Amino acid sequence: MGKMSNSQTKTDVILIGAGIMSATLGTLLKELAPEWEIKVFEKLGKPGEESSNEWNNAGTGHAALCELNYTPEKPDGSIDINKAIKINEQFQISRQFWSYLVKNNLLQNPQEFIRPLPHISLVQGENNVRFLKKRFEALSNNPLFQGMEFSDDPEKLKEWIPLIMEGRTSNEPIAATKIDSGTDVNFGALTRMLFDHLKRKDVEINYNHSVKDIKRTSDGLWELKVKDLNSGSVEIHKAKFVFIGAGGGSLHLLQKSGIPESKHIGGFPVSGLFMVCNNPKVVEQHHAKVYSKAKIGAPPMSVPHLDTRYIDNKKMLLFGPFAGFSPKFLKTGSNMDLFASVKLHNLVTLLASAFKNFSLVKYLLQQLMLTKEKRMKELREFIPTAKSEDWDIVVAGQRVQIIKDTEAGGKGTIQFGTEVVSAADGSIAALLGASPGASTAVHVMLEVIKKCFSQHMHEWEPKIKEMIPSYGVSLAENPDLFQELHTSTAETLGLSGKESVSGVSEKELVYS
Ligand SMILES: Cc1cc2nc3c(=O)[nH]c(=O)nc-3n(C[C@H](O)[C@H](O)[C@H](O)COP(=O)(O)OP(=O)(O)OC[C@H]3O[C@@H](n4cnc5c(N)ncnc54)[C@H](O)[C@@H]3O)c2cc1C
Repeated sequence: MGKMSNSQTKTDVILIGAGIMSATLGTLLKELAPEWEIKVFEKLGKPGEESSNEWNNAGTGHAALCELNYTPEKPDGSIDINKAIKINEQFQISRQFWSYLVKNNLLQNPQEFIRPLPHISLVQGENNVRFLKKRFEALSNNPLFQGMEFSDDPEKLKEWIPLIMEGRTSNEPIAATKIDSGTDVNFGALTRMLFDHLKRKDVEINYNHSVKDIKRTSDGLWELKVKDLNSGSVEIHKAKFVFIGAGGGSLHLLQKSGIPESKHIGGFPVSGLFMVCNNPKVVEQHHAKVYSKAKIGAPPMSVPHLDTRYIDNKKMLLFGPFAGFSPKFLKTGSNMDLFASVKLHNLVTLLASAFKNFSLVKYLLQQLMLTKEKRMKELREFIPTAKSEDWDIVVAGQRVQIIKDTEAGGKGTIQFGTEVVSAADGSIAALLGASPGASTAVHVMLEVIKKCFSQHMHEWEPKIKEMIPSYGVSLAENPDLFQELHTSTAETLGLSGKESVSGVSEKELVYS
């Protein structure tokens, strides 16, 4: 490391990483405790350049409207919708908070980060059609999923998904559900907008600053060793509370903190690729996010979907992400990341996981080796007429799934979710895991606040309820409240189909 700077500065809160998680926590804390001093350290030159960037994730506002893995079929044949309800409720919390920010002029132009887009689930084969019908019946009785339609009529499907139905010769039964209240979220744009807002609120944001070490000092504070990547000098910063929002880099930093809660946890990296359509005529023919079922043996995050996306005010068409295996924990990370995360305390957990998940690793390695033509073959299951020359490949973000010992799964179980790990005294917390990630950032950061600032919760609750009126209330059980909030957030965020707040209309969009 370079020369050590002598200055030791103390602050209330340090956020490590400038992704959607730190952006959300910083924004919440600035509303709840405006006088607190907050510093951010980000190793890259800009905010939202890793997983939160629009090119690195799929931009789905995950509300369980179309993702079939949130509604598993139980052994008795019925559909378990509990997870779908949970994810949907969490997304409603995000919508309410984003609406609060827009209404109070803390964020402008919501159409730059969120747009309405139908969410469609599409299946083929008799058993899958039966499953989808049962899922539709189970969900459509619930207020959170109102407006969902089901069809197994090819003529109707041609209206919904013309590009997917064109040139389809198979006689296999096919069916879909469609719900128009889905969204496409540009999490990269949202992250950048939130950091602009934090800057206006005098948060000190340090780009090109990489956090190298974290330790507890005798005065009960956390001391961070931070390298200024421009000058090469090393700075020492102290804080009462530290949030490790370093995405794939979080596990490494959590391990450095040495807290007991950081032990026996490992990371399982999964890389991603998208195919992007470069033919505007094809892009124009599709208007939805279309999710299908994971192939048998494939992990949930490897289900490619065909998505209309809005990036830089352009309408685009992406297929993916194709999952693969890479030892890196960040897209800009190192091939040594996986190796460096192996410690004595998590060795048994990791070995158990490697043993258990041999077929998953094999699957991901095989996926990694796929040629463009093999990927086109998967794409043609969605768009039978897809031409190779219309599609390019781009590298997506890196996900690090958590491996830990659980009661249900035993030693070394991979968790396909997002998890907060915090010290017992609430002085440090880290966010690990990936999907449904960004969509549920507000819910997850409220969990951090509840765990780490419990002594302030009584005082903060009225403000939290002002920002998120359904806080602590089940919307699934309060249909009237759901209706009221869903309508008002749709209007504020420009999702209602009525004139958006300051909308660029569909006609003005450039097709790319
Ligand atoms: C392929 C893919 C598809 C996805 N699709 C969706 C989707 O459709 N919908 C959805 O809701 N979510 C999706 N996700 C998940 C979502 O992208 C993530 O959950 C979310 O972006 C995580 O945000 P974050 O702030 O934790 O991490 P990041 O955005 O990765 O930010 C972490 C930041 O920390 C910085 N950092 C790392 N180490 C250090 C260090 N030592 N010092 C300083 N800074 C550091 C990094 O440079 C980075 O900027 C997807 C993810 C992937 C990879």
